[in-house]
Amino acid sequence: MKTWDKKKILEIDRNHIWHPYTQMKDYENRDPMVIVSARGLKLKTIDGQEIYDSISSWWTNVHGHLHPALNQAIIEQLNLLDHINFSGYTHPYAVEVVERLKDFLPPELSRFFFSDNGSTAVEVALKMAFQFWQNKGQKEKTRFVCLENAYHGDTLGAVSVGGVDLFFELYKPLLFKSFKAPSPYCYRCPEKEGFTLDASHQCSLKCLKGMEEILKEHHGEICAVIVEPLMQGAGGILIYPAAYLKKLREITRRYKVFLIFDEVATGFGRTGTMFAFEQAEVVPDIICLAKGLTGGYLPMALTITTEEIYQAFYADYLEGKTFYHGHTYTANPICCAVAAANLKLFAEENPLVKTREAREYFHQLLLKTFADKPYVGDIRYLGYVGAIELVKDKQTKEPFPEELRVSFQIYMKSLEKGVVLRPLGDVIYWFLPLCVTKYEVEEILNLSVEAIEEVLASL
Ligand code: PMP
Repeated sequence: MKTWDKKKILEIDRNHIWHPYTQMKDYENRDPMVIVSARGLKLKTIDGQEIYDSISSWWTNVHGHLHPALNQAIIEQLNLLDHINFSGYTHPYAVEVVERLKDFLPPELSRFFFSDNGSTAVEVALKMAFQFWQNKGQKEKTRFVCLENAYHGDTLGAVSVGGVDLFFELYKPLLFKSFKAPSPYCYRCPEKEGFTLDASHQCSLKCLKGMEEILKEHHGEICAVIVEPLMQGAGGILIYPAAYLKKLREITRRYKVFLIFDEVATGFGRTGTMFAFEQAEVVPDIICLAKGLTGGYLPMALTITTEEIYQAFYADYLEGKTFYHGHTYTANPICCAVAAANLKLFAEENPLVKTREAREYFHQLLLKTFADKPYVGDIRYLGYVGAIELVKDKQTKEPFPEELRVSFQIYMKSLEKGVVLRPLGDVIYWFLPLCVTKYEVEEILNLSVEAIEEVLASL
């Protein structure tokens, strides 16, 4: 049994490690949690406390931690090939990923470009869309359209098509300028169209008007539109109707601009279908995948596109149409091995069917638990993702004052309770793995309510 020196770990961490998306001063007088192992939905701390990983380790974990088939795939790969550059070589491990993934994709998406993480998958998509038009001689098509509240990663290209001001405002001087269309933020819809999750909703998609106007006026200078299909994740788990994507596909075709779906968060079953775009019955020109691609084990990403886009780069070398993009760890064989094992699980065990009841129960329980709470303005859910938007006043939708740091307090309290609630602003969310059971759903929501209500009672 491995042992650790907690004091030393915390000391070295405090003195040398800079954590992502963390105000380090918040930890001046409190310790970060030290996680030493995990299994299924549970993380274990160095003190032996068990905590539900209810956000799937930043939306990546798919089948639970340490799944035997995924572990085995990595172990077997370690006897074969660790790493090789992917330019001028290929290997059966990348080929298996493509072969297996093709079974889950429409035939139009037939060209696969590997990279390392969600942000790089997006960078690749942006550069591909841009260079397509350059290679075709339409040099003026250089700009992108994105959405308010969009999140596509933290590298500068991805930030340039991002819309979460809290994260990105400061970096504006470093960014290229994109057109920004209104967000389909149904709860705070300025048109008060009031899309709700029950089937009776009436919505005429007025939020798409802004997008349509941008495309109508500027399509000559636009190479692509990029969106997170069905759910703007980091922008606040903003779930919107599939009809939006259907219409968006129609207008992007009409104005001859590419449509990029960033499925980094929504891919691999999280929304209840393998990919979110299936629910809209449309096919984008480019799709970005990462996170769940390896079941949440290792960093790998794919940007997948059509033959049309691929062919615009296929030319004699001296024509200068080559795609000059690549990362050292492109299609790393160990990542590929675990990704292939992940896809094999999808093909053979059909987790989306297996846990359908659990995810429907999750939706029902969310409604039952939170519908009458005075502090919950909106309840949103899709597949294995659920969210509530906290408000100070349900009638006016007024948020809690920022200085109270309600979300941060809830985060801290949730860890004490044994569940991870890492809110996005005023939105508390659950991003569950596909192996979740009804019992776990119940436990997670019970612990969550305790954490939230204890904090609110103390204000
Ligand atoms: N796109 C979306 C929709 C995401 O949610 C994220 C990460 N949360 C990214 C891109 C960036 O992925 P990564 O953190 O792997 O760079």
